[in-house]
Amino acid sequence: MTRLSNTRKESTRPMSMLRDPLLADAGKLKIDYSASRMPVLAALTERFAESKPFLGQRIAACLHVTTETANMCKALVAGGAELALCASNPLSTKDDVAASIQRDLGAEVFAIRGCDRDTFYKQVQGVLDIRPTIIVDDGADLTTKIHNDHPELLENIIGGTEVTSTGVLRIRNMAKDGALRYPVLPTNDAATKHLFDNRYGTGQNTIDGILRGTNILLAGSTVVVVGYGWCGRGVAMRARGMGAQVIVTEVDPIRALEAKLDGLQVMTIDQAAPLGDVFVTVTGNRDAITLAHMQRMRSGAVVANSGHFDVEIAVAALAEAAVSRQEIRPNCVEYKLSDGKSILLLAEGRLVGQAAAEAHPAEVMDMTFATQALAVKYLVENAAGLSPDVHEIPRWIENTVAQAKLDAYGIQIDRLTDSQTGYLTDWRVGT
Ligand code: SAH
Repeated sequence: MTRLSNTRKESTRPMSMLRDPLLADAGKLKIDYSASRMPVLAALTERFAESKPFLGQRIAACLHVTTETANMCKALVAGGAELALCASNPLSTKDDVAASIQRDLGAEVFAIRGCDRDTFYKQVQGVLDIRPTIIVDDGADLTTKIHNDHPELLENIIGGTEVTSTGVLRIRNMAKDGALRYPVLPTNDAATKHLFDNRYGTGQNTIDGILRGTNILLAGSTVVVVGYGWCGRGVAMRARGMGAQVIVTEVDPIRALEAKLDGLQVMTIDQAAPLGDVFVTVTGNRDAITLAHMQRMRSGAVVANSGHFDVEIAVAALAEAAVSRQEIRPNCVEYKLSDGKSILLLAEGRLVGQAAAEAHPAEVMDMTFATQALAVKYLVENAAGLSPDVHEIPRWIENTVAQAKLDAYGIQIDRLTDSQTGYLTDWRVGT
């Protein structure tokens, strides 16, 4: 049952869209559990509650509606922001978490798990109705929607952040075309994001999603990782750790070489097709696995995607070629081909770790969202001097977040002595 909550009918703010507001208690329990694993964000939340850096700002956010996102929302609201949140992916929304963000944080939430395309875009529209001053995006859906359909909103917007690789790529393309109209800070490009979130977050939850979807034994299996970016590196590392033989396919010679010297087999996807037991696409591009590849796979091969959109695997072509389709386990659909062979597609070719597992764990999102919250603060303080382009997240933000995470782990590191600093900075010093 879908209810529109009407708690704010009296205000001029848009109404939220939730599965059921009564799920809020269950959501709060989970959010608090995550919070206990997000110490960097917790410390920031306290600081923001005192200094209120976001007073007067209206933030529109499009993110996975998870417990980790809830804790970043808490930091932004503690800092004085008015916030509206919609889902970046209908399958990753946790309905109870959405209900708690609405009730306990006073943010306006537009997110219903599993909703159709039409409702999804109504939710995007819902957050834009707050007439945002700041955009917090995951996949550039808000950014493209505003530029394409709502240019009237641009005059209020001081800038935005973008959390994922594919979104940053899209926004850079907008900037190249001269189409981007406000400054964007690419959270994804911060070292405290992609080195950890993309590698260890995606690495772990991709395996988690595959195992929940299939319960196969990875030890002794052959896992083909299509794409060796930060996410692909993480998936390959974790699959190998579970005893799988890993094959990497790539289009970039440097990454292919890196995979080879990391001890993995490297070949084309054509060559890998008949060899793999499990295939994972992590390319950020389309058509990484085509019907022709699937027709050459072993019967029972598992095919999953952990890249941004559901365009990496030729799902529609598979469905068309199949003689039957049956969901044999949650998030696992068996397609039978005319030669009797079966292909197991996980999570409809959408992000497997998000849809069939629980997205990235709190410990890693702690760094991503602390980086992002500080980037939003930086925007508030500096946007006036930033051109409408993609800028770098300042190094001090990365260092602050990394240091805070080390502190939380109770890890001390060495400091450079004066003579070491001199050695590193003075070109006159010889050997
Ligand atoms: N927006 C796209 C895909 C982006 S998924 C879609 O929904 O299809 C990749 C992004 O999700 C990463 O940049 C990561 O930071 C974010 N993410 C992963 N786990 C998350 C979590 N638990 N909560 C919020 N965001 C998460």
